[in-house]
Amino acid sequence: MTGSGAAAAIYLDHAATTPLRDEVREAIAAAETAGFANPSSPHALGRRARRLLEEARERIIALLGGRTTGRERDRLVFTSGATEANRLAVCGIAGSGRPACRYSPRDHGSVVAAARGLGDHGCDVAAVPLRPSGRIDCGRIEWPLPPGRRILCTTLVCGQTGSVEDLIAVRGAGGGDCHIHVDATQAVAVEPVSFATLGAHTLAFAPHKFGGPRGIGCLVMRNDVDLTAATPGPQESGLRGGTEPVSLAVGCAAALELAVAAREREAGRLRQLRDRLEAGLMAAAVAAGRSAVVIAAEAHRAAHITTIAFPGVDRQAFVMAADLAGVCCATGTACASGSSLPSPAVEALGLPPDLAAAAVRFSLGWTTTALDIDAAITRLSLSRCLSRD
Ligand code: PLP
Repeated sequence: MTGSGAAAAIYLDHAATTPLRDEVREAIAAAETAGFANPSSPHALGRRARRLLEEARERIIALLGGRTTGRERDRLVFTSGATEANRLAVCGIAGSGRPACRYSPRDHGSVVAAARGLGDHGCDVAAVPLRPSGRIDCGRIEWPLPPGRRILCTTLVCGQTGSVEDLIAVRGAGGGDCHIHVDATQAVAVEPVSFATLGAHTLAFAPHKFGGPRGIGCLVMRNDVDLTAATPGPQESGLRGGTEPVSLAVGCAAALELAVAAREREAGRLRQLRDRLEAGLMAAAVAAGRSAVVIAAEAHRAAHITTIAFPGVDRQAFVMAADLAGVCCATGTACASGSSLPSPAVEALGLPPDLAAAAVRFSLGWTTTALDIDAAITRLSLSRCLSRD
């Protein structure tokens, strides 16, 4: 629970962002003291800040299973978040050229916007079809993509349904001759991720999704990837101008370290809690004379996200009533919360419109307990969320 007292809010919106972990806060504070100087300054304190920054960079690459030695060692650019990392990848690979670009309709808005932006500049851009499981439907794509440079974007764990992409199948079906950009923002804390074996050329994520700080994201890239900077400057090997946030980079590495060390155990714990929530809300819906459908239930899903549709219920009204009852959940990604349209990731599954209109996302994280889940089920059952009047 978040807050204090009997009415403390139950936070089931970890896919939007998560509370900072104490260990990470301490790591940030220590780095802010020891590494306050500008890492580009050549004096001793600048060099100390530089060392902290580069150590954090190396740790993150290693934790993600990247290559840290040899001529093929992977690189990492620090950005302001996953949005910027996605944009840097898609627009940076395109540079001033006109690549063909395919994206998945379940991709985050930042990927979709960057891809569509290429379309506005004359590139051949299209969304690929999805299967009901949320995975790319490779059989319905016209391979090979048009000649020349090709970019294929996909999301490892869908921020809406939690379904996991099968990158091996995508590469085997024809994606192997594309630059593959993967958004792993919802994946790195709950699914095994190895950049060296994933087959992606670039990978984006942000640590605020798993107990890390906001205001920093990462774009990991293979050594042979040639990117054009969006905001050129001398920092980050010319790929992102501006003084680097040393303490946030250290906090990012600390959060990733904790997440990776506990990944399997935490995924198992969250899966149990998620199943408990799904069962409880299904029963609550039936008790209220309604039904409930878990979206992409048959898919390989990451442990921490579930989207449940309550046919006949308006999803925005549900989320508002849940908020009044002290449960924080969402209709979809926080940056699209102003939209009155159903989530594109849900719509792309080809579900009946009444399901897409009634879909609510619940997402769990490191602070979520069984008590939270049981209290959330009780509060939602007693609230107006599912009522018929
Ligand atoms: N990609 C995915 C899959 C996300 O879920 C989100 C945030 O919801 C983002 C990217 C954007 O992350 P950020 O807020 O760090 O820009």
